[in-house]
Amino acid sequence: MSVEKSFSEIRDSAKRIIGRVEIAAQKAGHPVTLVAASKMNDAPRVRAAYEAGVRFFGENRVQELEAKLKDNAYDGAAVHFIGHLQKNKVKNVVGRVDLIESADSAELLEIIGKRAVEAGVVQDVLLEVNIGGEETKSGVEPERAGELAARAAEIPGIFVRGLMTIPPAGVEPERTVRYFEQMRKLFVDIGTKKYDNVTMSILSMGMSADFEEAIACGANMVRVGSAIFGERHYT
Ligand SMILES: *Cc1c(COP(=O)(O)O)cnc(C)c1O
Repeated sequence: MSVEKSFSEIRDSAKRIIGRVEIAAQKAGHPVTLVAASKMNDAPRVRAAYEAGVRFFGENRVQELEAKLKDNAYDGAAVHFIGHLQKNKVKNVVGRVDLIESADSAELLEIIGKRAVEAGVVQDVLLEVNIGGEETKSGVEPERAGELAARAAEIPGIFVRGLMTIPPAGVEPERTVRYFEQMRKLFVDIGTKKYDNVTMSILSMGMSADFEEAIACGANMVRVGSAIFGERHYT
């Protein structure tokens, strides 16, 4: 559980982060959407961030998402799925979130699309890119992201809005910036292709430790968790 911060501390942190995102966005010359990554924080804590002005939340576990939807945690706000999505959980997510940020294979896109068609919706997705080429991380390899976008264009029920990445942790800041720059290039490159049902409008990258650098490199969506809600304690 993440219980360090009180509700008023969450509100204060959220306001500070909103301010920092705003300043970084102004410097970069483009608007930026702040998504509060609210994993391990329950509905009342999500509401505290909402009260401070946060209007987008990101969840990475299906069970938590469902519990908080039931508790009306996101009322008046949008919710994104940002975690690894198992194929057998797709049905619990499609049509219930505004954006799935973590689609990373043609197979997964097909399952999402199929479910969306059944539900009579078009599901917005981002393609998650494994920019550091890490063995253990989800995401399509950068070299294959264009190919995946081309495949996505043929799948009914989905609309690709852009790219998402989580760069390798624990590397020097200059290295992280290089990953952000590579993402930006990929985003621009794919954007020049005219695939059906694919636009490169959203570039989601940057977390608590590096969202300002990400914005400077072109991110227009950042996902910030611990800087708003406090450190998470995994047991
Ligand atoms: C938890 C999480 C974040 C936020 O991480 P912090 O370092 O706490 O800001 C961002 N993106 C994803 C996919 C996450 O799971």
